[in-house]
Amino acid sequence: MHSTSTLESATQPVLEGSEFAYQVLGRKTPITPRSIYGIGRNYPKHIEELSNQRPEEPVVFLKSQASLRPFGLPDLKSSSDYPFRDQGLHHEAEILVLIGKTIPLGSEPTPAHIGGLGLGLDLTRRAVQDQLKSKGLPWARAKNFAGSAMVSSFVPVTSEVDLTQLAFRFLVNDTLRQVGQSRMMIWPILQLLKSLAMLHPLVPGDLIFTGTPEGVGPLKPGDLLTLEWTMPWQLQWTQIF
Ligand code: ZN
Repeated sequence: MHSTSTLESATQPVLEGSEFAYQVLGRKTPITPRSIYGIGRNYPKHIEELSNQRPEEPVVFLKSQASLRPFGLPDLKSSSDYPFRDQGLHHEAEILVLIGKTIPLGSEPTPAHIGGLGLGLDLTRRAVQDQLKSKGLPWARAKNFAGSAMVSSFVPVTSEVDLTQLAFRFLVNDTLRQVGQSRMMIWPILQLLKSLAMLHPLVPGDLIFTGTPEGVGPLKPGDLLTLEWTMPWQLQWTQIF
């Protein structure tokens, strides 16, 4: 378990000028972002709540670097440049994997390739996504816009960390909205990385949103958001939406 002093340092995302770099706890140098992958339909109960079909391979989509926002800013304030902020954006709380070492094309990933684990929100314009899905169109308009990828600081993956025994919670105004456990994933973390590494090498700074558990729902401006690791760490970040 990490102590409260670790928690203190965890609440400081790194902003370098207008660029956003990922602070990994225990590392001096922040990792700068590269490709951002989103995974859809990785938790059975979330597939049910949206009446989706269970896919045969992971559903993969992309978010741009311009969609990134640090979660857990010291002053708690939300950025003002959020489009659609008052239109009931859905929260999707997710475990984030930050790649720390290159995974060559087609090779087998190991925990040593992971630079850190974080928590984040994959904000989604649900009504727009439903329309796009029904027409068989790409999801970018629903998933990829300024602030749609909210990202905490990252915790390094030591040899004691069991990637199948991670757990987190997401609260809005102190009310529990989502609980996630990595053991509930259809494709566990290393399998997701393997599937992505079939497409191209994964390189340091690549970031994967690993899918959301059930409980997604709308946010409104001013909501107090809390992302929290409950296993194996006890770390928490808060942010006003
Ligand atoms: Zn998602």
